[in-house]
Amino acid sequence: MADLRTQALDDFRRRCKDQGLAFTFQRQVIYEAVVDSREHPTPELIYEQVRQRIPSISLGTIYKNVKTFLDSGVLKEVTLHHGSLRLESNMTPHHHVVCASCKAIFDIKETAVESVRLPTSELPAGFAIQQCRVEFVGVCKSCQTARRKKSKAAKECST
Ligand SMILES: [Zn+2]
Ligand SMILES: [Zn+2]
Repeated sequence: MADLRTQALDDFRRRCKDQGLAFTFQRQVIYEAVVDSREHPTPELIYEQVRQRIPSISLGTIYKNVKTFLDSGVLKEVTLHHGSLRLESNMTPHHHVVCASCKAIFDIKETAVESVRLPTSELPAGFAIQQCRVEFVGVCKSCQTARRKKSKAAKECST
């Protein structure tokens, strides 16, 4: 795990360099917060994490850096339809499993999904596909547990 993290950080440093972005301590801490959360965090969640290491940082600074990261492509946005900005540190092609309840997003490696086929005839006229992303929607373990507790509590209340 530690190795993967070091590797992610090395990659990030390289991408910053390629894009002419200064690799500052602040940016490193922000990036580490994205990698560590492993759940495609929102800028607000990153802020909560980063604040523990850099107490003087503001949410505005997080937004600004996140925007710089996205504009330069050193980080990616997950998808455009989740209603809020979710960040992606995994730059290799992969798919997602999304919890419909808490909106947690987990990575699934690309090779784990067996061929997805879409006949060209089904595409809107002239549409050029750039990549294929599969999203599996379900309910995560902690949400299931929470639901069970809730329904049990509701039963106990009604008796
Ligand atoms: Zn959930
Ligand atoms: Zn992902």
